[in-house]
Amino acid sequence: MPQKVISIRPEFRAAAAKAPRYDGGALSDTRGRSMRDLRISVTDRCNFRCVYCMPREVFDANYKFLPHAAILSFEEIVRLARVFVGLGVKKIRLTGGEPLLRKDLPRLIAMLVPLDVDLTLTTNGSTLVKHARALKDAGLDRLTVSLDSLDEDTFRAMNDADFPVEKVLDGIAAAADAGFAQIKINMVVKRGVNDHQIVDVARHWRDSGHILRFIEYMDVGSTNGWRMDDVIPSAEVLRRIGEAFPLAPAEANYAGEVAERWRYKDGAGEIGVISSVTQAFCRDCNRMRLSTEGSLYTCLFAQQGHDLKALLRGGVDDDAIRDAVAAIWRARDDRYSEIRTAETAKVRKVEMSYIGG
Ligand code: SAM
Repeated sequence: MPQKVISIRPEFRAAAAKAPRYDGGALSDTRGRSMRDLRISVTDRCNFRCVYCMPREVFDANYKFLPHAAILSFEEIVRLARVFVGLGVKKIRLTGGEPLLRKDLPRLIAMLVPLDVDLTLTTNGSTLVKHARALKDAGLDRLTVSLDSLDEDTFRAMNDADFPVEKVLDGIAAAADAGFAQIKINMVVKRGVNDHQIVDVARHWRDSGHILRFIEYMDVGSTNGWRMDDVIPSAEVLRRIGEAFPLAPAEANYAGEVAERWRYKDGAGEIGVISSVTQAFCRDCNRMRLSTEGSLYTCLFAQQGHDLKALLRGGVDDDAIRDAVAAIWRARDDRYSEIRTAETAKVRKVEMSYIGG
């Protein structure tokens, strides 16, 4: 089933109509959370079919991805991004789908650079050998690469696209050569699938200057058949690694940082754990996601977004968009991970490939 185009939610339309002019003050939601990070999905397409994200049975040859006319143009993305920065956003992550499948992505990056935010991108690394230099030259600050296993069979089974480990490793090396430092390597851990690789992967990235981060397998979307039994809690990841390479906790870089940091006691660098299932961090969540077609989501586990494209293409000015976004943020009360149960996991939610990981 294709994602349906989302109309403006009535309560949002009412809130937007009544939205007070944004007065320039700090923006805070109903739980006192401020707005800091914006993730922008630049495409809903991907060349991988990771079993936990875009299972091939659903995202098959008949799946209808968004048509070109439905997706935000670079100009529209930059216009919205500028509004968000005016409201306090300090960091923008480009994602997807696989963002490097979007044609001419370095041009978008160059267009975002003048906004003076921390500009970063998450990729599966499959085409980094080709693109790393252009991304750096365009002004991208930082890079995150997903790599779930170093074992060939495990990795190919997880990406379900028969994609080899070596090519992603080559991509990471090319990115480092192009000048990206401290690349973050994301590993989603699924019990019985790649958890036997935890210590091997940690060993590989120790002392590399890059930062490995373990992500708890989440119930995003409604196609991955998530079960709590498949989640390896971060505490277990830390225990397994700590037995091989002793670890000590490290300070967060800033309040609301998604990953909890740990450093190797022998000085071989650091790792991070992202525990959205076992240690929900909704309390500090300062993130929003802009979908490929311009809907704004204030929670990764949302069922519906706010259609900003309708405002953009409806001819309103930037001040009106700013007031609408401020009203959405002020009304925000989501905290899905804090109230997750086996039942909520079954509720139909928007897919991560569409909303942006
Ligand atoms: N294609 C890019 C990539 O592979 O990194 C960007 C998009 S992807 C959706 C972003 C991140 O979300 C990846 O690190 C991926 O492993 C993670 N992810 C996707 N589905 C997930 C799930 N069910 N649980 C935890 N992480 C997930």
